[in-house]
Formats: sequence, structure tokens, C-alpha cells
Amino acid sequence: MIKINENYLKLQSSYLFIDIARRVQAFQTAHPDKDVIKMGIGDVTQPLPPACIQAFHEGVEEMANAETFRGYGPEQGYAFLREKIAQYDFKARGAEITADEIFVSDGAKCDNGNIQEIFAQDIRIAVPDPVYPVYVDTNVMAGRTGRAKDGRYEGLVYLESTRENRFIPELPSEPVDLIYLCYPNNPTGAVITREQLKVWVDYARENRALILYDAAYESFIRDPGLPRSIYEIEGAREVAVEFRSFSKTAGFTGTRCAYTVVPKICMAYDETGEPHAVHALWNRRHGTKFNGVSYPVQKAAAAVYSEAGRMQTRALIDGYMENATLIRREMEALGFSCAGGENSPYIWVDGRQDSWAFFDFLLNKAGVVCTPGAGFGRCGQGYIRLSAFNSRRNVEQAMTRIRTALAG
Ligand SMILES: *Cc1c(COP(=O)(O)O)cnc(C)c1O
Repeated sequence: MIKINENYLKLQSSYLFIDIARRVQAFQTAHPDKDVIKMGIGDVTQPLPPACIQAFHEGVEEMANAETFRGYGPEQGYAFLREKIAQYDFKARGAEITADEIFVSDGAKCDNGNIQEIFAQDIRIAVPDPVYPVYVDTNVMAGRTGRAKDGRYEGLVYLESTRENRFIPELPSEPVDLIYLCYPNNPTGAVITREQLKVWVDYARENRALILYDAAYESFIRDPGLPRSIYEIEGAREVAVEFRSFSKTAGFTGTRCAYTVVPKICMAYDETGEPHAVHALWNRRHGTKFNGVSYPVQKAAAAVYSEAGRMQTRALIDGYMENATLIRREMEALGFSCAGGENSPYIWVDGRQDSWAFFDFLLNKAGVVCTPGAGFGRCGQGYIRLSAFNSRRNVEQAMTRIRTALAG
């Protein structure tokens, strides 16, 4: 008899996006003449930068000729891409990361989800609340939690992000070994300062813990004083793995290219307390289970670092950030207190009511779809997430409609 991994039965089905779709469908059936504006999406809306498209085409042409054709590439990614990443994303910012510490992959979601398998079963894990669901669900699947009770899994340490701590959680009161952090944050849009991040790095060093730092929204940081990489913090190379993606930076959500940084001096320990390089473990996993990102896609990703590519991606993000500024300003003018939207494409709005009640109000009275904060965790209750990934026209229209709905 073939048996299942029963940990999968513990997973709380994510009704969030199904529930949203169902309510939107019901509204549209009742009001076929009204269009809805989707302000809940966590996906980019603008096309790839022209520099990436050109490089992508060239890559495809090379595959069409016997002289330039390429089969399997290095599992860790081509040197031409890894060197550019090390140069522009790290060395240029004073973070000492070398090309051979970079693992190119087809997504930060996969890497975030896969990395847990190189660690022991009985480690203590800290996850933010609210949170990107991948960190929690992959540990549930691996059997590192108990059952779910009132929306939380037994055995996990939840790091609460609330208005009181301005969405930066305090250190856990009980010892933990693995810590998930995400800045700029999805869903709250909060950013972390150097001083605040140093507290976590110091904690990890003192406790031989490891930080998994998800910096998928790093390119939306506009404040030059904020860290864009955890490796800008002294000592972080010893205790942190960083995840980055071209998805939000350059519109690669459908093209698929990301990377994970594992410094060679970053250690994890065996039963006897003997240190082992996380780099070697991840290299083994990556090489065994992954066969590299498509060559034309890596060519397209490398073009992000060309002069034209940097200008074009900057303009792309500037466009989304103008939307974010507009959304935050409008919501604040309407009396809502907001987080995010300044160095992040997400605006976290305190609705001062049940998340779903506010969602229903915005849908039915304004024809605007948001994401209810409660779907991201217990601490998300009372909030909604608005996304800047949209056209200017849609954002302007949505804000006008919300203003009118609240006045009526
Ligand atoms: C979008 C997103 C990612 C990127 O995932 P890809 O698989 O690279 O597209 C990673 N982390 C967070 C928090 C995200 O929102």
C-alpha cells in the first residue's frame, strides 16, 4: 500500500485567494455592468525591459546554431551572470560576496522552500506573523510542526509584527535556531534599519542560529540609509543566507530567474557540535536536484546589469513606486494609518475593522479588490494589503472610487 506523507494533512488549505476570487465572482455576477480594479495582486504588470528582451532573443538565436548551441550549463549558474551579481548587487554596496557564493535558480520561492531540507528535524524555527506563506508551509510539509490550532502551528515561534513595534518584531523570548526575515516585507511593506538588523545578526552569532533573509523587494528601497543586503551588516556572512529574485526587480515573474547567496564561512552544526559549511550542503542539494536555469533566461537576467538594463529597471520600479506614493498619500488623507509604500510596493492599511469586512466594503462600494491582511496570519487581522503593481490609470481610478465610497 502506498502511504502518504501525513504532514501534508496538517496543512491549512489556503482559502485566501480562492475566497477572494469567489467574492469577486459573486460581485461581478450581481453587477455585470461594473468593472473591478484589482489592487490585491502580488505580480508585476509591466513588460520586461527592452535590454532583457534583446539579450533573451540573442540567447535563443545562439541555441539555433550548432557552433553556439549550449546544452547543460553549470547547476549554480553561468559565471557571466554570477560575476555581475557579485559586482553590482554586493561589492558595489560594500558587501563582500564573491561569484562562487551565488547560486542562480528558477525562483526565490523554490529556494526559500527548499533550503529547510539541509537542516535537522528538531530545530526551533522562528517565523514572522504576518508572513509570506512559503516559509511556514514547507516546514509543515517536512514535519517540523505539530497541528494547526487557531491559525497557528504548534512548535513554531511566531515573531509578531504589529503597529506597536512598527512591524519589526522583537527577538524571540525562547531560543530559536532558524530565523526567517523578509525586508522590505511582504505583506506589511515595512523596512528594517541597519541597527535593527544588527540586533538579529548579533543574536544569530551568539546563539549559533541561522538567518534566512528574503530580500525579494530589495530594489524598491529608495532610502539610501537602509541596508539592501543583510551582508552590509558586520558579521552577517557567518550567520545568514540571502534570497534575491529578478521577479519583482525586472519583471521576471513569468520568465523565472533568482539567486541565493550562501557565504562560504556560514556554518551549521552536527550532533556533536562540529561546524559544517552551509555552502557545501546547499551546493550538494542544488547540484543533485536542480539542473540550472535556461541559458537565454540567464542571458536576459545578465542584461539587467548592463547600462541600459539598469536604467530601464530603475524606470520600471520608479513607475511602481509613484503608484505606491499615490496610494499611501490617498489612504492617509482618508484617515487610515498605513505602513509600507515608501520603500516597498505594498501598502499595509489599518482598516480599523475586520479585514474581510473592509475587503467586502471596498469590493461592493468601490469595485476595488484588495488582499485581506488576516490571510497572512493572526497579526494581519484588521489590515488590508494594497499593491502598487498596476497601471497609473487603474491606481488613480481606484483611489477616486475609494474616496467616493467612504464619503457615501
Ligand atoms: C514574489 C516573492 C518572491 C519571489 O519569488 P520568485 O519565485 O523568485 O518569483 C520571494 N519572496 C517573497 C516574499 C515574494 O513576495
